[in-house]
Amino acid sequence: MPKLIPVAEEFNKPFWDAVNAKRLVLQHCGACNKLQYPPQKTCQVCGSDAKLTWKEVKGKGHIATYIVIEDGRLNRRMPDQPYNLAMVTLDEDTTVNFYSNLPGTPPYKVPVGAAVEVTFEEVAPGQLIHEWRVVN
Ligand SMILES: [Zn+2]
Repeated sequence: MPKLIPVAEEFNKPFWDAVNAKRLVLQHCGACNKLQYPPQKTCQVCGSDAKLTWKEVKGKGHIATYIVIEDGRLNRRMPDQPYNLAMVTLDEDTTVNFYSNLPGTPPYKVPVGAAVEVTFEEVAPGQLIHEWRVVN
């Protein structure tokens, strides 16, 4: 399945550098003690930019809900329809959510509530992205 190829900017380069090393790091705000994803230039809760640091997480989560994309408008994804779009909640901070196509899980067969773990897929030479896979 073709995926969007990320283009790192200065503020999110540590995130993509870690993904390329098969590690998941999230921003942690020392002012309000929150993890945040996706990376942003400031804390989305308190607005601080001085207290944002990078923290490695274990990459374990659970499937909160999902939909199946049947008639999406992204041309490059149309050949793959229907495909899953699941919302994954991070175990270490359940306010942090990720969206995943759940590679390995057929469309409409998503086990809501199941445990998932982060996995990494190469989308361009040397460029990985993070995805999520159901833990058996
Ligand atoms: Zn904050």
